[in-house]
Amino acid sequence: MERDILVTGGATGIGRAVARHFAALGDRVVITGRRPGPLKETAEALGVRAETCDHTDPAALLRLVAALPGSIDVLVNNAGGNTDFDAVPLKGTEDAGDAPDSDGTAHARELAAYARDFRANLDANLVSAALTTKALADRLADGGAVVQIGSIAADQGAGSYGAAKAGLASWNVDLAGILGARGITANVVSPGYIADTEFFRDRLADSRREFLIASTAVGRPGVPDDIAEAVAFLASPAARHITGQVLNVNGGAYRTR
Ligand code: NDP
Repeated sequence: MERDILVTGGATGIGRAVARHFAALGDRVVITGRRPGPLKETAEALGVRAETCDHTDPAALLRLVAALPGSIDVLVNNAGGNTDFDAVPLKGTEDAGDAPDSDGTAHARELAAYARDFRANLDANLVSAALTTKALADRLADGGAVVQIGSIAADQGAGSYGAAKAGLASWNVDLAGILGARGITANVVSPGYIADTEFFRDRLADSRREFLIASTAVGRPGVPDDIAEAVAFLASPAARHITGQVLNVNGGAYRTR
């Protein structure tokens, strides 16, 4: 049976692999993102539909919902990333540590920048998923599935990014209870280090990369298809009694009982 699937942030990395996986199964897939260029390229390569949308923006979400099919079987809240990689220092804060600050101006600027950057990660990784699910709630098909892309950072810590992904997992617990009455599952797939994505921009030092790989039990980085397989399972008929869970896909870099 063909399903209607929405993969947020589906133009690159993990989202692209998830979209490719569902498209190969014969499902109808819509991918979203903010940049038209990568969206167009991926939509043409995979034979899927693309819609531009910033998932932190309620007005953009309403436009997206109007453009989607009447019913969505599977929602994959994948859009996100660590916004600290793109954060620009507020003007005047770069040298704040050295400047005399008798009136507290530098400290005030530093705190304002911290608030801005902290909220950016919450918006990008937690509010985006909650808003998207809320906007689509009435359109989710009974018996369907919602899958959030979390992160190992939720358990191992990574500032506001880890806090946002931990919040995502907590919110998902509640969501599973709300959607369960309609037979809709809600789960988190929590990746460890996944290569071949735009996640790290160009900021992943070789030494850090080697450390992340050495942290796994299996001795290799994850690849986007590792995550796509897990997402596809949670959305499949085989997983209709699995909900409110976090599925860690990290090569054993973080282990649980
Ligand atoms: P990518 O940067 O390749 O993919 C992220 C995608 O999300 C991009 O296509 C981006 O497109 C889109 N996106 C980001 N913010 C928004 C937004 N506000 N609205 C719409 N689209 C958005 O990295 P990954 O594939 O690695 O990231 C996918 C998910 O996996 C993220 O949630 C990330 O946190 C998570 N993750 C990744 C890990 C890794 O090692 N790679 C590890 C753990 C978790 P655009 O900029 O055009 O909007």
